Amino acid sequence: MAACRGTVVRPLLDARRADTRALCAALGLPVFDDPMNDDRAFRRVAIRHDVLPYLSALAERDLVPVLARQAAILRSDSEFLDDLAARAWPGGEGDDHEARAAALVALPLPLARRALRQWLGAPPPSLAEIDRVLAVASGDARRDRARPWARGASISRTARPDRRLASPSVDLSAIGGMVVDEDELQTRIRELGKEITADYEGRPPLLVGVLKGAFVFMSDLSRAIDLPVEFDFMAVSSYGSATRSSGVVRILKDLDLDLTDRHVLIVEDIVDSGLTLAYLRRTWLHAVPASMEVCALLVKEGLQRVELDLKYVGFTIPPTFVVGYGLDVGERFRNLPYIAEYAGPEAV
Ligand code: 5GP
Repeated sequence: MAACRGTVVRPLLDARRADTRALCAALGLPVFDDPMNDDRAFRRVAIRHDVLPYLSALAERDLVPVLARQAAILRSDSEFLDDLAARAWPGGEGDDHEARAAALVALPLPLARRALRQWLGAPPPSLAEIDRVLAVASGDARRDRARPWARGASISRTARPDRRLASPSVDLSAIGGMVVDEDELQTRIRELGKEITADYEGRPPLLVGVLKGAFVFMSDLSRAIDLPVEFDFMAVSSYGSATRSSGVVRILKDLDLDLTDRHVLIVEDIVDSGLTLAYLRRTWLHAVPASMEVCALLVKEGLQRVELDLKYVGFTIPPTFVVGYGLDVGERFRNLPYIAEYAGPEAV
């Protein structure tokens, strides 16, 4: 609570309850205790009665004035930053959405988040919502920039997927907007298959898939290649069930075949930070293959933390967490025939 905001002034905000009670007693004023102040169903009451005494005992000092002082400092910092953000990006209306989006994403991240939070108003959006809006804004702002590694078709962000596409037993409530629909996927995979067939004429490729996500793509891609192909799989885990890259790659199943002198085509479902691919490529190059290229179905725009030479790319998509067509969250949604945004509770 602010001690003073607009016409509202709270002169007793700094007074401790015991002081107020003592003053009332000295003045002979009756005291009324609000029963809500003892109702632990309110989290603030439980914190006041249970957590604060515990922390004070641990610290061997009364922490209430310390926390109150910190709160006042943080409040004034926060008001200052709000003011800075509002002046840096007033938001407002205007037809030039691209310019507004570009101005927003050009701000340092903490200011951009604050400016957006103020502009969106009440109820206060979650951090995940703010960051999703920023991701869209940065995608729009970058639309015209050169993307040398993006060779695929552009993406579409249309309405929610048609519920009839999946079996009624699949719970689609956590599925957000469509990112690549079934037709776009199949058309692009046929194109990739033709390209690969032409490029690998006379030197049949060994398709190396990264499980589990790539199995659906690899299955369709291999049937679009008009050459004798061989398959091998490695299983790695970089995320567990979280939706952010940890950068740590764990090998769960190694390759069965020897890559020496083979024309290796790595088939990846999605390149996010690129750390998984960079790691695998480094490892596999030790076997001295005749050639090694990558075919990635999806590449997230602007997120790569390493240089990657991707020979074949299906689609460049915005930096959002997606599911379907082999991609899961906690092992769900792999059998959706399209790629859609994940909007469930663990989404970040
Ligand atoms: P990277 O190492 O490039 O950050 O992550 C690559 C791996 O993370 C992918 O092979 C995939 O398993 C997982 N991944 C990255 N982004 C997504 C996503 O948006 N959805 C899903 N389901 N998995 C993802």
